[in-house]
Amino acid sequence: MTLDPWSNLSRYTPPDIRALQNQKLRRFISEQLYPFSPHYRQVFDRLGIKPDEIRTVEDLKRIPFTSKTDFIATPEHPDKSREFVLQPNRETIRRHWPLAKQLPILFLAFQKGQDYAQEKISREYRPSFVTFTTGTTNKPVSFLYSEWDIRNLYLSGSRMLNLFGIKKDERIFNMFPYAPHLAFWQVVFAGLAECVTIFSSGGGKCLATEGQIAAILRMRPSILLGVPSYVYHVLREARDKKSRMEFLRQVVLGAARVTEGFKSKLRELLFDMGAAEVAILGTYGFTEARCAWAECPAQPGHNSGYHLYPDQEIIEIIDPDTGEVKKAGEDGEIVYTPLDARGSVVLRYRTGDFVKGGVSFSPCPYCHRGVARLSTDITRLSDVKGLNLSKIKGSLVNLNDLANVLNEMPNITEWQVEIKKRNDDPHDVDELLVYISPKEGCDRNKLEVNIRKNIQLCSEVSPNAVNFLSLEEIVRRLELETANKEKRILDTRPRS
Ligand SMILES: [Zn+2]
Repeated sequence: MTLDPWSNLSRYTPPDIRALQNQKLRRFISEQLYPFSPHYRQVFDRLGIKPDEIRTVEDLKRIPFTSKTDFIATPEHPDKSREFVLQPNRETIRRHWPLAKQLPILFLAFQKGQDYAQEKISREYRPSFVTFTTGTTNKPVSFLYSEWDIRNLYLSGSRMLNLFGIKKDERIFNMFPYAPHLAFWQVVFAGLAECVTIFSSGGGKCLATEGQIAAILRMRPSILLGVPSYVYHVLREARDKKSRMEFLRQVVLGAARVTEGFKSKLRELLFDMGAAEVAILGTYGFTEARCAWAECPAQPGHNSGYHLYPDQEIIEIIDPDTGEVKKAGEDGEIVYTPLDARGSVVLRYRTGDFVKGGVSFSPCPYCHRGVARLSTDITRLSDVKGLNLSKIKGSLVNLNDLANVLNEMPNITEWQVEIKKRNDDPHDVDELLVYISPKEGCDRNKLEVNIRKNIQLCSEVSPNAVNFLSLEEIVRRLELETANKEKRILDTRPRS
């Protein structure tokens, strides 16, 4: 590993960081993106944007957003996602790279031969690794990594472990599902980057819950990472078996939203198993960024926000309706632009994720790093669903709010929400059904009243039914042990 500029970077002032970003952006657009990206070269040419006109982060506004629909293949572009991959050739390199960038290659060719120089360039761009998007509505889209991008994946991994304050003799237990998805591989590369022992159990599809617990007890890791619901499920089973996990120091959750209420539920479980002071940390990432960001440890009930990598990317927060760029700390949709990418590259990518509190530029109150931080209050815009619970009026229901309410109720062990058509008739009204596995010994009638009240408060709709199920039954319905992503909110309505 090369030495990471993270430590210097975290001492930069905001104007220093902006100057660095402007410089990196200029070079990235004129030396990489415009010359080598078939998609963006066409966009720039069509709009008459000259690559050297994009000189500062503010100039990005001239470039249109990219969104998920831009990757969808059409008859004219059957391999649309391939058009986002940087594809240099001898001619475009000669035409677009300044002499100062070409000379070292010529020198290398002279010194070590043409083939050597060519392989060196080729390796920087040649795709050698891939992860896929996990869209439930769209077809999965592949995102390619070259050796260069793998180095960036090491970098973000190493920075995250740095934030968590991991020591070299600590052990990491990776419970993310083994799949071509970012979360699993980001953790694997993080461990490799920092040279710490990491075991990847592959999640429930690879190893049954008893196997997971036995492996944790044998390995005695200090850090456990995984998807919130699955980590919670395994730890709950372990607690019920009277296992002790006093060796755990941190639990790091990813690939789903984590609220303070959920964290405190998890903390309670860990406390029962002898792990008294466990930091529970959230991470955020998406396939298109090919990296993830993390919180640093803070006292219970507080969170630092996700620490960004300002030398690696620009995060803009925009108004999802008008596209207008918001100021520091304002709410809006997260838009991502890389500053140092190869392989599949997206510019001004609209994530469809809405963040309350936007980006903060003040130093972190917990670890004192000076890098910008993204608020953790993030919801998927696609999780706001229209429901027609009566023939009279439809309601917009934010499923994230619904999930938070149920996650945070202490007397609920597991839950599932199903949205379906009454009588499975596509022309009938929608129904909202709630399935609950209650905590042992709790008053079910009281719980049902509270559930109805809380759902009504957050969403202004009332569930059609609250059904009580056994824990086994609900674990099966959720596919907690068998699927990569649990079926927490099941929308079985036919798509129109
Ligand atoms: Zn911090």
